[in-house]
Amino acid sequence: MSKRVTVIPGDGIGPEVAAAMMKCVDATGVPVEWQELNVEWGDSAGNVAGLPQNLLDSISANKLAIKGPITTPVGKGFRSLNVTLRQVFDLYACVRPCKSMKGVRSRYEDVDVVIVRENTEDLYAGLEFKNNEPETRKLINYLKNEFGMHVDQDAAVGLKPISSSKSERIIRFAFDYALQRKRQKVTAVHKANIMKFTDGLFGQVAEEISKSYPDLEFEERLVDNLCMQLVTRPEQFDVLVLPNLYGDIVSDLCAGLVGGLGVAPGANIGEEIAVFEATHGSAPKYAGLDKANPTALILSGAMMLDYMGESKAAEALRKGVESVIEEGQSVTYDFKMDRDDPSAVGTSEMADAIVEKVKLYMKG
Ligand code: NAD
Repeated sequence: MSKRVTVIPGDGIGPEVAAAMMKCVDATGVPVEWQELNVEWGDSAGNVAGLPQNLLDSISANKLAIKGPITTPVGKGFRSLNVTLRQVFDLYACVRPCKSMKGVRSRYEDVDVVIVRENTEDLYAGLEFKNNEPETRKLINYLKNEFGMHVDQDAAVGLKPISSSKSERIIRFAFDYALQRKRQKVTAVHKANIMKFTDGLFGQVAEEISKSYPDLEFEERLVDNLCMQLVTRPEQFDVLVLPNLYGDIVSDLCAGLVGGLGVAPGANIGEEIAVFEATHGSAPKYAGLDKANPTALILSGAMMLDYMGESKAAEALRKGVESVIEEGQSVTYDFKMDRDDPSAVGTSEMADAIVEKVKLYMKG
């Protein structure tokens, strides 16, 4: 019986990489019925976009979705629909594996790090107050009058909730993930020397939970030190578990270690629902040019197949991607030494080459 999956092509390069991903997943022969739906767009000022009810209904019913990137205006307009989607469905675990691949130009070899990022709280909770608004002043005055805390009257303010319950579920998720995939070590990342109560709580919970996983090595790192260690000796790290904001930033850093955003897949996983998506954004300058690298979303498709229990198909898809990249013939411009190399192919042609490899791997 075919499994129905909601597809959100998104915008920018989204529709092109989503089409490439569907072709490649179909090549595995796993029966998937794609239900394509999109978000509603904002006006020219970027104000009225939202997640339409039929999209929410589709994800609730199918429990499985894969999405292309969605553009979010920076510093104005509507709140990120990506963040909203994660919050609406409580997709609390963002999993982003970053593994070196032969044929991908990068400063490092043999990086194999998995980021497990908390997806629902921290500074991404949406608890922000605009500067010079009456509510913001009220909050600033309340802090002053009730707690003697000083915040400048003209400040914008953001709140950073970190709860023990949500820290516990993401940290357990990271340890379980590490155990299931036979990884060796979990590193909890925070900045508890400065944010003693919020990040401090995350660290305490991690330390406590680590005691129930004696077969896994456990360590804590301050996020600034972690960044330095990642760029000097990335081989030290295995599974990283981080609160939301650090997780977002460190994901891009680790994507850079293995060759850039074009090759970094991801998943947002909740108790019952999972939404798969690449780490990269909508890369507007390449929209509609059949130029973008489809690898990250195709590898997100492989993660989806794993989640569906289709591990043979997932492996064939990953091997198909790896061998096309290693051969270096049918690859997009960003795999080439010279970005203007005329032998680079487009998004769809790279996907076609992967399709042929996947069919072979599925037969063998
Ligand atoms: P971006 O990931 O779109 O682009 C960063 C750089 O990487 C650019 O140079 C881009 O051209 C390149 N790039 C990214 N993906 C590529 C691919 N597949 N192939 C080739 N090159 C690729 O990040 P940005 O420029 O910071 O963000 C653009 C928009 O995307 C913003 O509106 C942002 O909010 C949004 N965004 C969405 C998501 C999501 O939907 N989950 C994630 C990140 C950013």
